[in-house]
Amino acid sequence: MSAVRTPLANHRRIVIKIGSALLVDRKTGLKSRWLEAVCADIAALKAKGIDVLVVSSGAIAMGRTVLDLPSGALKLEESQAAAAVGQIALARAWSESLSRHRIVAGQILLTLGDTEERRRYLNARATINQLLKIGAVPIINENDTVATTEIRYGDNDRLAARVATMTSADLLVLLSDIDGLYTAPPHLDPEARFIEIIPAITPEIEAMAGGAASELSRGGMRTKIDAGKIATGAGCAMIIASGKTDHPLRAIEEGTRSSWFAPSGTPVTARKTWIAGQLQPAGELFVDEGAENALGTGKSLLPAGVRRIEGNFHRGDTVAIIGADGREIARGLAGYDADEARQITGRKSAEIEAILGYAGRAAMVHRDDLVITGSVRKTKKEGRKEDAAHA
Ligand code: GLU
Repeated sequence: MSAVRTPLANHRRIVIKIGSALLVDRKTGLKSRWLEAVCADIAALKAKGIDVLVVSSGAIAMGRTVLDLPSGALKLEESQAAAAVGQIALARAWSESLSRHRIVAGQILLTLGDTEERRRYLNARATINQLLKIGAVPIINENDTVATTEIRYGDNDRLAARVATMTSADLLVLLSDIDGLYTAPPHLDPEARFIEIIPAITPEIEAMAGGAASELSRGGMRTKIDAGKIATGAGCAMIIASGKTDHPLRAIEEGTRSSWFAPSGTPVTARKTWIAGQLQPAGELFVDEGAENALGTGKSLLPAGVRRIEGNFHRGDTVAIIGADGREIARGLAGYDADEARQITGRKSAEIEAILGYAGRAAMVHRDDLVITGSVRKTKKEGRKEDAAHA
């Protein structure tokens, strides 16, 4: 067993994400035998003192079978109605199956706003933590009945990663119909190689994520890698494993093939975790190489290093910072509204007062409000002098 692959029992708090296709059969509905087996696995983990949270998909799939809807894409209101019907059945199934092990289940339905807005995020976190404190297993899903396109996660992979970081879990297990990460989508490329250990999510790893998703589920490998970035950046390890066997958690313990993503060595603070996990940054700051170097060494982002700004954001909104080669390298809270930020783009911090008419902050994004989310080039070359002076 490698250093990355450690026994599940070594973890303190585990979030388990379960894909729709594992729980619901298109024709026969709920796969109760599988659910019973996974609940036995959860009970075994809990008996070892581990906190367990479940992010369960399947509301829409379940509603589809209950309502006998035809296959194919659903309109938004149809999938919302299906979710409303399916979620009740799904939650009841979890509650009943866990109760056979004397475990209490608590349902939590989240929308994007519950994790993006700081105050609502703190509220949701407090409720989930209270459930864990009393020994219950939170059964979490997106509140599909009210979430519309602009305000939804749409996939439970990223939602589960958000839940993991929100609750400071140390392991996220994504159970789906694929057993892990391959160098290319295995159903399309016979040469695709399986990758067991992923020490860091590099651009090469990101490039391996294909699109694919089945009819019952939304998340393909893309959303799993996105989930990995959110989780590992916050110091939470992640596993992608097949849930197709009964007792999938026990199978992981017994060494079944799965992909393990190492947590980043330096977990950031809870506040920075929240910044990094924001799904919809309000704008983008395109920076030059000098600024990219400076960010890599822990400095603030100064207006001088910004080349171009996109989006319409306010001070305090999350913005993505895009490196010289077009990839996102960091996220942070904007120190200026977008129109002011545009006026001081490329200018020295000493000029800010003359341009804006007031002495603003030296940094466009202060290092305390900034978190590296991509790989930053760290060349030997010194960052520009001014960066060193201010940050
Ligand atoms: N929230 C959706 C459901 O419960 C599933 C989203 C997903 O498959 O990732 O039906």
